[in-house]
Amino acid sequence: MKIAILSRNPKLYSTQRLVVAAQQRGHEVRVLDVLRCYMNIATHKPQLHYKGVALEDFDAVIPRIGASVTFYGAAVLRQFEMMGVLPLNESVAITRSRDKLRSLQLLSRKGIGLPLTGFAHKPDDIKDLIRMVGGAPLVIKLLEGTQGIGVVLAETHQAAESVIEAFMGLRVNILVQEFIAEAGGADLRCLVIGDKVIAAMKRQGKEGEFRSNLHRGGSASLIKITPEERSTAVRAAQTMGLNVAGVDLLRSNHGPVVMEVNSSPGLEGIETATGKDIADTIIQFLEKRQSELAGKSSGTRTRGKG
Ligand code: ADP
Repeated sequence: MKIAILSRNPKLYSTQRLVVAAQQRGHEVRVLDVLRCYMNIATHKPQLHYKGVALEDFDAVIPRIGASVTFYGAAVLRQFEMMGVLPLNESVAITRSRDKLRSLQLLSRKGIGLPLTGFAHKPDDIKDLIRMVGGAPLVIKLLEGTQGIGVVLAETHQAAESVIEAFMGLRVNILVQEFIAEAGGADLRCLVIGDKVIAAMKRQGKEGEFRSNLHRGGSASLIKITPEERSTAVRAAQTMGLNVAGVDLLRSNHGPVVMEVNSSPGLEGIETATGKDIADTIIQFLEKRQSELAGKSSGTRTRGKG
């Protein structure tokens, strides 16, 4: 196959691992900076150009689109899709999962375990909002935050009111969530490919920290997950429409609850913690998808002829 990897930085661990895995399996790979791709929206022949040259003949595209370039990245990926290139994850699924509010609404509709969560922009009655999610202690999050930034634990009702007021003053959308104290500052990252969790790790926040983010000094270790956690992770990825996803779960008293579904999960932490070659599994998955699609289209042609 000829594979494009959309990544802003070819030196990133995940990008490099995918390049090596694809090459080892005999594919041709090219890393493209998504912001440098430009396109024309023509009825018959949609095109993508890069550094003055048309991008042609790609069979598959692996999007590694950072949160800050979601809008343009999704447009470039959509253009690849219009040109008939197979995406590892579809643009619509990526956009869906990047919207925290929309994601939680979709997951709740499917009956997937979630922490009790409220959303607000400018609530007139903050006390009621706090009551809605069961009172303090609670977690308040900026809708646009990543890597644990903008995630605050308010231990008392008073603290919760002050933090909500402060965020409201900044005119940002916030999410107010039941605090899962029993998770003990740990979460589970489940790497889903297709309909399987192929690797899982536990991330534990450093001493005294309720956030488990590795960027905040958390540490990762191998963990065996339960069948319920496994099926929750797979269902969460499928609800988003993602073929490959990093699903973050907390172990709560009422079963596994989904924190987030990530469409470009980093490979470094999970490959190191589990010793698994996840990049290779991703490329194998793409190969399988491509041969399934090829089988389907030749099947259609045969039927058409008959
Ligand atoms: P980000 O997307 O910025 O990483 P998260 O919502 O994933 O933000 O929160 C960061 C971390 O904080 C989580 O991985 C988890 O360890 C902890 N955390 C977040 N929400 C809760 C909660 N409701 N209860 C307990 N811990 C939480």
